[in-house]
Amino acid sequence: MEKVNGSSLQAQLTLWKKSRVKRFDVEEILDLVDDWKNAGNGWLAICPAHDDNRHSLSIGEGTEQKLLLHCHAGCKFLDIISALRKQRDGKRGCK
Ligand SMILES: [Zn+2]
Repeated sequence: MEKVNGSSLQAQLTLWKKSRVKRFDVEEILDLVDDWKNAGNGWLAICPAHDDNRHSLSIGEGTEQKLLLHCHAGCKFLDIISALRKQRDGKRGCK
């Protein structure tokens, strides 16, 4: 039996570190999403990775300034990040 799960999350985290996601901070993400609102000690925003109309994306700051992103509709972390990147690149492109 090859090992299955467990390692995939680790692989995602490694990929995440390699891709310098840390360069996104909360302020920048809030600037990129279509809409957001405060939610306790974090924020709820329109998820850029799917056709969202009800603030499915939770954003928070963890310890040591790690960014917490979670889409309640089930988007993967890296999908959200790449969608944010596209938003960011798009903004740079026009204007
Ligand atoms: Zn989503």
